[in-house]
Amino acid sequence: MDAPCTMLIDGEAVATRRQLDVVNPATGEPFAQAPAASPEDLERAMAAAQRAFPAWRRTAQPERRACVELAGRLIAEHADALAPLLTRENGRPLAFAKEEILGAAWWMGELAKIEIPVEVTEDSPARRVEVHREPLGVVCGLVPWNFPVLLAAWKIAHALLTGNTLVLKPSPFTPLTTLRLGELLKDVFPRGVLNIIAGGDELGPLMSAHPGFAKITFTGSTATGRRIMASAAPLLTRLTLELGGNDPAIVLPDVDVDAVAQQLLFGAFVNSGQVCVAAKRIYIHEDIYEPLRDRLHALILDAKVGDGAEPGTMFGPIQNEPQYRRVKALFEETRALGCTMLQGAPVPEHGYFLPLTLVDNPPEDSRVVAEEAFGPIVPLLRFSDIEDVIARANGTAYGLSSSVWSRDLELARAIGLRLDAGTVQINQILQSTPATPLGGHKQSGLGVENGLDGLLAFTQTKAVFMPKAAA
Ligand code: NAD
Repeated sequence: MDAPCTMLIDGEAVATRRQLDVVNPATGEPFAQAPAASPEDLERAMAAAQRAFPAWRRTAQPERRACVELAGRLIAEHADALAPLLTRENGRPLAFAKEEILGAAWWMGELAKIEIPVEVTEDSPARRVEVHREPLGVVCGLVPWNFPVLLAAWKIAHALLTGNTLVLKPSPFTPLTTLRLGELLKDVFPRGVLNIIAGGDELGPLMSAHPGFAKITFTGSTATGRRIMASAAPLLTRLTLELGGNDPAIVLPDVDVDAVAQQLLFGAFVNSGQVCVAAKRIYIHEDIYEPLRDRLHALILDAKVGDGAEPGTMFGPIQNEPQYRRVKALFEETRALGCTMLQGAPVPEHGYFLPLTLVDNPPEDSRVVAEEAFGPIVPLLRFSDIEDVIARANGTAYGLSSSVWSRDLELARAIGLRLDAGTVQINQILQSTPATPLGGHKQSGLGVENGLDGLLAFTQTKAVFMPKAAA
């Protein structure tokens, strides 16, 4: 067993007496333990972050950026050591785990390049009006289990670049790599600026209801997002909510079927479907429905699903047992409806594995179409009319991302502009960049992360009215 991970509170490595098991989803067995923060640990982290705030908010932007850049470089340097741990706790195949860690490191460096401007809204002979951006205070960062390192890095960079201090919490299912980040970054920021604590199901609600937080940045399910919004209401705590999605992919009849099938294999099944912006409903024009369906089926029959630590594995397990049971129930319910299920290669019998599965044109109101599966089951849906498919694509409470596939770029763009989604991708999928705001329409979220807009959400404005001459 690896050396136990510690939490980071007030610049110190902190162990706890109570520990929680961390399960390897490829085996279903615990392989390590993680600290379980007590309410007193949360209070210590809060007090440390509050003490650190006055000096950190006054630290010049270039210095804060240098710290975040250094954090990114350190994470990149340790990617080889961190990736196997991420694979063991999250299930993601090793190459993808390393990609996530390097991506997180790169993202921090890129976000650090974004300048927070002072806006001048008036510069007349009589006066100058400036809008400054000030930090909010102590930020609460809550991260899900599907991309623990990338999403933690986003929260660290957004909160700290803008002069806030942070108490960050990983998911109880994937705490270890994030805690290792804390150990790695211990001396990068002044003490108390970055605090990372871990714990069980009780810790998140304790944090989101804590009156000491000026802002909550949360990535996770829409259901939890609603609860967090309710707990933020009494003190009007600021919120950024990155929530669930049920992203449509619309495939027009003029595409190269083989090429699109290859991209949609990853677009739909990457991380075994446990990606907020994965293609979760694939609408295929009737002229190419059968050829594209059959090509996708051939590809999933060829794709190796297994333990992410084994060479050649493309797709890993469902990340945790409750999610495994939820997705398994969806498989059973879809089968009971009489839908044709096209399954991929067989999967290991131990651990939380389910085969990659396509559902052949299920009813639009079936749960596998109407809800976010967040697992390796993807409905293929036949359409013939563009107006109809746009209405069906938009006929959900979600609005995270979307994709349109066609050789006719103008038509694809015109369709994309009519989709209710924070991101529209033409002939590509799973796209986001540090410079581009990522956020959901409708119940997929509130606010955005990334880009200048993402950073500004961690600030408040201060308008300064200055006469040109002294009174
Ligand atoms: P989740 O909502 O169960 O948990 C996310 C985090 O919130 C965890 O750290 C959890 O411990 C904590 N938490 C749970 N209940 C809480 C409460 N009442 N108060 C405060 N914290 C609480 O989400 P999950 O199952 O870990 O993640 C999967 C979901 O995340 C999917 O719906 C997926 O689409 C979504 N997601 C969205 C994005 C995006 O950018 N929009 C990115 C990744 C994942």
